[in-house]
Amino acid sequence: MNKNHTDSLAFDREHIWHPYTSMSDPLPSYLVESAHGVNINLATGETLIDGMSSWWSVLHGYNHPVLNQALTAQAQQFSHVMFGGLTHQPAIALAETLINITPKGLDRIFFSDSGSVAVEVAIKMALQYWQSQQRSEKHKLLTVRNGYHGDTFAAMSVCDPVTGMHQIFDNVLMKSVFAPAPRITIDQPWQAHETEQLAQLFEQHHHQLAAFIIEPIVQGTGGMHFYHPEYLKQVRHLCDKYQVLFIADEIATGLGRTGKLFACEWSEISPDIMCLGKTLTGGYLSLAATLCTEHIAKTISDGEASCFMHGPTYMGNPLACAVANASINLLLEQDWQTRVKEIELQLVAELLPLKAHPQVNDARVLGSIGVVETNAAVNVAAIQKRFVELGVWIRPFGKLIYIMPPLIIKPDQLSKLTQAISTVVNEVECFL
Ligand SMILES: *Cc1c(COP(=O)(O)O)cnc(C)c1O
Repeated sequence: MNKNHTDSLAFDREHIWHPYTSMSDPLPSYLVESAHGVNINLATGETLIDGMSSWWSVLHGYNHPVLNQALTAQAQQFSHVMFGGLTHQPAIALAETLINITPKGLDRIFFSDSGSVAVEVAIKMALQYWQSQQRSEKHKLLTVRNGYHGDTFAAMSVCDPVTGMHQIFDNVLMKSVFAPAPRITIDQPWQAHETEQLAQLFEQHHHQLAAFIIEPIVQGTGGMHFYHPEYLKQVRHLCDKYQVLFIADEIATGLGRTGKLFACEWSEISPDIMCLGKTLTGGYLSLAATLCTEHIAKTISDGEASCFMHGPTYMGNPLACAVANASINLLLEQDWQTRVKEIELQLVAELLPLKAHPQVNDARVLGSIGVVETNAAVNVAAIQKRFVELGVWIRPFGKLIYIMPPLIIKPDQLSKLTQAISTVVNEVECFL
């Protein structure tokens, strides 16, 4: 059954949930026919330049010949086998690469199917780690406000308590300890008082704390803030001092986005546990990984349960691993740092002047991420429609208009994105 464009959208609107969208009064969706490079082609014939990388995922653009080839070659071997009792080269190669390129000490790896699950796995590792040492009183999590770690229950419990989903699920969520969000930005001078309250919370709660979790350098969904690298150095120090595991959620920042391969590198620290996802497969399939130290893996394995209690059906899916290997190779075999720097310089030149605009509260850039924070919240339906008319795909939320385009974007295409942002900030109907 191949419905026409209008019927398809009507069916979609009636029957299919979209992320964070009402089913009674849904925001409009646009029907995609194909996508190639940085272009998303709609069924209506319009072509949009992609500013979102489909939520931090599409690193090398859509429909990439090398990634397509990796996927079809693997499909001709086998698309999936259970990971219980069986293993395969795509997973082995990917594990070897990730262990080599991630910060020192992370050399045990757990594959899962999405970012939220990678966070659940990280949290379960931390809890089992302490339980294995008969220290089950260390079962709470410490985090900062404005965080985002996914939509499953343990992940939700460390999302920002206000903008996250705490009110709705308050009765069932684990109670985490929240420190103030980091305030000093990456381009401001560091001040020691920034971590005073954090240090007090460590001191006060460490007997109960299993782990501290944070998105390194970039707080994404919780506000698109870029905070000072010294903050993570202090966190590393506090975690060591008070025997608390350090979980870095690099699901959005990993693999080059911020100008470093991993955002932890800004602070020259290694966490005890690291989560990866989003662009791991270059935006082809859902795949995530949780890495930990040998010490954590050994402690868990020597504990009462004698194994780690998790095992997704699609664990280490060969198609996903094969395309992840191809995507990471594509990244590493090019001068990706120069590429990110070029994008950064252009974003700085074209977005930062908007700071002076009366409707704009702040504009900031880090690596290939550009953010314009407006004074009023956006009207998503209206602004989305305008962006489509202007030939770009940018999906703002709250007061944040932000882009993180695929690395293959050309200067004129990137200018089209920044010009569209400059245009809409002048249009009152795009804001609430
Ligand atoms: C997107 C994201 C997640 C959740 O990943 P999903 O694949 O959507 O479950 C977790 N943490 C961070 C930092 C993210 O950006």
